[in-house]
Amino acid sequence: MASSKAHQATGFAAGVIAAAIVARHGGGPFQAGVLLSFIAGMAGATAPDWLEVAWWSRARRLWITHRTLTHWGIGWLALLALSYHLLGHSIYAAPAFGFACGGLMHLFADWPNPLGVPWIAGRHSLNLWNSGNCDLIVVAASWAAAWFIGQHVWLHDAYGLPWLRHLCAG
Ligand SMILES: [Zn+2]
Repeated sequence: MASSKAHQATGFAAGVIAAAIVARHGGGPFQAGVLLSFIAGMAGATAPDWLEVAWWSRARRLWITHRTLTHWGIGWLALLALSYHLLGHSIYAAPAFGFACGGLMHLFADWPNPLGVPWIAGRHSLNLWNSGNCDLIVVAASWAAAWFIGQHVWLHDAYGLPWLRHLCAG
């Protein structure tokens, strides 16, 4: 796996991306959905790893094989699509969407190293580097994506942050 630090760092980016998209769709009362999706994005980015640990037991063994069901691409994509669809209709959609963004970000971070990620069936690996190496590239790529999406939503459209629009309009 990518190191947990890398997952947290990319999780921050996933949270920003999720929050930006939720803001674009209306964050609900007081933009609460924006905050919720950000927090859920941070949680989701480490979820595929902690979901497979039996944290309720004393031994804390893995209850399923590492990088199987919790790293399943289709599952995360389905959650993403479903929650995206419900944005603006259900208050649960924003955190679910953030969680899915984080989960997918986790898979992207795990993808380049040799163990790979079971996107559909069977693992696939980009086979670029070993675990922990080049975390910086993964983190930088995720932040670049967050910056790209964030500035598109917030600076160009000034959506979800009305005060920014006021500020810019002087
Ligand atoms: Zn993982």
